[in-house]
Amino acid sequence: MRGSTHLIAGAALGVMAGSLVGGPAELVAGGVVGGLGGIISDVDHPGSMAGRWLRPVAVWLEERSHHRDSLTHTFWFCAAAGFFLGYIAWILTGEPVLIAAGVLACLSHLVLDGMTRSGVRPFRVWLPRLKLRNLRHGDKAFPGTKASWLNWNRFVDKVEYWTGRRFRGRFYTGKSPVEPLIEIASLLVIAAVGYFELSPFIFNGDNLEIYRTLAKLFG
Ligand SMILES: [Zn+2]
Repeated sequence: MRGSTHLIAGAALGVMAGSLVGGPAELVAGGVVGGLGGIISDVDHPGSMAGRWLRPVAVWLEERSHHRDSLTHTFWFCAAAGFFLGYIAWILTGEPVLIAAGVLACLSHLVLDGMTRSGVRPFRVWLPRLKLRNLRHGDKAFPGTKASWLNWNRFVDKVEYWTGRRFRGRFYTGKSPVEPLIEIASLLVIAAVGYFELSPFIFNGDNLEIYRTLAKLFG
């Protein structure tokens, strides 16, 4: 899924979460946290928006694992990163609901990428394998120990097999009409929530006086 879709969909979720407590500042904060949360997973790819901002991190991650096969495209990372982003916003604005904005937006990245052909493996875990270069089953040099060491590595293989299930959909990133559709739907959500939540602040009596004054000055 392309970056703009992640950004706008994440922002829409953030704005919706922000609207639970209302107020212009909460909506904007929700939108910013949601937008950031939506794109942060692609930091494992230097060509992405997040990857361009944090290029050294992106290069390091891409060298270690292919795009979408890194830690940042897992449920574990998204839950933690979304919570962290939301927590910072909570401290800055005093609104704990922004944690929901961050977590929802981060997880939306996995859902959207999971709709594409390449898919995601959200529940992967990584365990360290023991290095057994010169140690084979039946080696006399290490009687007793080698079997359990080999068992550990077999256990790691199994865990990676169980947790490594790939979730994938039918869409091609950058070519599918579903991406502009999601973007338009998300923009409509942002516009609708913004209108219903902000109109009382914009069109109250005090502001109308200001508008009249401005109209006299410039009109
Ligand atoms: Zn992605």
